[in-house]
Amino acid sequence: MSLLSVRSLTVDYETSGGTIHAVNDVSFEIEPGETIGLVGESGCGKSTLGKAVMRLTPSTEGRIFLDGKDITQIDQREMRPIRSKMQMIFQDPMNSLNPRRTVGALIGQPLQVAGRPAAEVKARVAELMSQVGLPPDAAPRYPHEFSGGQRQRIGIARALALNPKLVVCDEPVSALDVSIRAQVINLLQDLSDELGVSYLFISHDLTMVQHIADRLLVMYLGSVVETGPAETIWKKP
Ligand code: ADP
Ligand code: ADP
Repeated sequence: MSLLSVRSLTVDYETSGGTIHAVNDVSFEIEPGETIGLVGESGCGKSTLGKAVMRLTPSTEGRIFLDGKDITQIDQREMRPIRSKMQMIFQDPMNSLNPRRTVGALIGQPLQVAGRPAAEVKARVAELMSQVGLPPDAAPRYPHEFSGGQRQRIGIARALALNPKLVVCDEPVSALDVSIRAQVINLLQDLSDELGVSYLFISHDLTMVQHIADRLLVMYLGSVVETGPAETIWKKP
């Protein structure tokens, strides 16, 4: 069974200027442990598709199945167990991390919300910090004391806290210095190998995605126009 199955998904935005068809009849599958690169030029609907999969944006038509369960129409209460299976990482972790909370509190929050005992949270936070390569003394410090690359490591650690099966990564290295990008990509790759986590990896940068993705989906004007193994996608005659 596929980890994620997206069937004929359509996402419209209603705006004052009319309806925008951001995602148009898109279908794809992600197998356990597989990394899918979602590429295409700016505005083609990648972020909308990622957020729709995460149920952060409502879809207009179609179905989304996670581990065989239809999550298309479930309510917020039912979302709780789904959230632990599926997480998202954003371009700039500072937009999603509360700057007034310590690194330890930020990474530990999903575990705390899930009702894990304090001692377990503390041990798991230490383990996660080590897995993502944060210094052991990072826990009591604040995100602004860290570099962009390290802040993305905080975001990754937090996303991994509940052992998700799928992580949607929306341009996770685009805001970082070029010299740091490869380090974060390699970290994500290692974590996938080690933990068996799947990624839906969104990027406008094809060369970078080819390093990490097993398969690519190419979007154009809301539709998936091309799909195939990462190394062959542009080599067709
Ligand atoms: P990408 O991630 O590929 O850059 P987006 O998913 O952000 O593309 O955008 C797809 C289309 O939907 C674009 O035309 C964009 O302007 C539009 N769009 C994105 N978000 C919204 C929104 N919240 N309201 C209305 N239109 C939106
Ligand atoms: P809040 O003020 O919202 O209650 P806390 O500061 O208590 O947030 O932290 C939330 C969770 O993160 C707690 O379960 C705590 O155990 C964990 N936590 C906080 N600081 C650290 C730290 N320095 N090292 C490890 N875990 C931490």
